[in-house]
Amino acid sequence: EPHTIPSGDHPISPRQITSGAKKVVEQLVSDGYEAYLVGGCVRDLLLGMQPNDFDVATDATPEEVNRLFRRARIIGRRFQIVHVRMGKEVIEVTTFRASHTAEHKGRDQSRRSSKGLLLRDNIFGSVTEDACRRDFTMNALYYHPQDNSVFDYADGLSDIQQRLIRVIGNAEERYREDPVRMLRAVRFAAKLGFRIEENSARAIGKLGHLLADIPPARLFDEVLKLLMHGHALATFRLLREFGLFKLLFPATEEALSKDPGYYLEFLEQAMTNTDKRIRADKRVTPAFLLGAILWPAVLERRKAFESGNSSPVYALQQAAGEVVHRACQRISIPRRFSMPMREIWELQLRLPRRAGTQASRLMENNRFRAGYDFLLLREDAGEIEPGLGEWWTRFQEANEHTQEEMTSNLD
Ligand code: ATP
Ligand code: MG
Repeated sequence: EPHTIPSGDHPISPRQITSGAKKVVEQLVSDGYEAYLVGGCVRDLLLGMQPNDFDVATDATPEEVNRLFRRARIIGRRFQIVHVRMGKEVIEVTTFRASHTAEHKGRDQSRRSSKGLLLRDNIFGSVTEDACRRDFTMNALYYHPQDNSVFDYADGLSDIQQRLIRVIGNAEERYREDPVRMLRAVRFAAKLGFRIEENSARAIGKLGHLLADIPPARLFDEVLKLLMHGHALATFRLLREFGLFKLLFPATEEALSKDPGYYLEFLEQAMTNTDKRIRADKRVTPAFLLGAILWPAVLERRKAFESGNSSPVYALQQAAGEVVHRACQRISIPRRFSMPMREIWELQLRLPRRAGTQASRLMENNRFRAGYDFLLLREDAGEIEPGLGEWWTRFQEANEHTQEEMTSNLD
């Protein structure tokens, strides 16, 4: 049974809950259902952080939730949830899940692979059962906005106070059920600055390889969550420490093992820049970051095509094609990101060619800014001699007259 922390014994105030989230809970409760805020939002509020979204857990089934709200939509198959729209907000509503027992076997709601992977997780249960199905103790906290109490089912509060990420139950078993939990552990460790508890950490070293069984589309989503939330550098270091990076980006890890000097410098610089931009509320495109992550692999692969009299453009394009193809077998990068990524790479060959009107025309290229930033990164990391980046910086700031001067003495 849960440990109840009443109003006043925790720092959360109902005023911190968005009106949409509050309305969803109130509506469910007034219709006789049980409903709470749950997971990351409760955890973040307890830590004094602003949650990035609010999740609701209830004993109403997805169909019942769907019927109750006008702007609702059932999402997912493996794990059904309902998206409820309230103004601009989208509230995720999940039905309490229970553990899977023998009697569920063969039913459509529950499926498990021979390795223990959960293929379907739609067995509904009570809030107590739901808490046990969650990934980490810090994520199994429930909050009731009406009486402002927190319900702690897995000693999550004490782990939050100790800044520990601890898998609920047997870590190996829980990672086998869903290997993505290993990535989530790393993501939270980086984001919150928490330590991963010993058993939960050791099992990652042992079972990381199971990520190979995760569909590449889901891994792509997870990779974005890992790297686009302002803690890419810490995440990158942890992923490598736990041996998970090589499972997501095998060709990059291979390149790193060949030249840990400037490749590593380049990647860490790319992560640092991304973090800075996100914290400054500047736009970051996954194309740039993924392009940076795969760049060491492209440089290594390019060597194979540089022999004989093939042009540098040809060598780069061939290498790029192969690297993208191989990367997509692990994490499926949508074309809307892989196309601009390749354009940024190709710009690296065009940026040195500035004579006549070439420079002005390059600046009109859609990817110019990203290509220029990428060039600066390469110079900073020591891949190429500095100079060209600085030239482009001056050129962009110069007036037309100076620009003409700058390009007239080039060939
Ligand atoms: P954030 O939104 O800050 O990234 P979060 O903890 O809210 O973190 P979500 O992905 O939004 O993460 O998931 C909401 C909650 O659902 C989690 O707190 C956790 O309780 C549960 N959950 C999510 N993914 C899993 C999983 N793979 N296995 C078990 N429980 C999960
Ligand atoms: Mg969340």
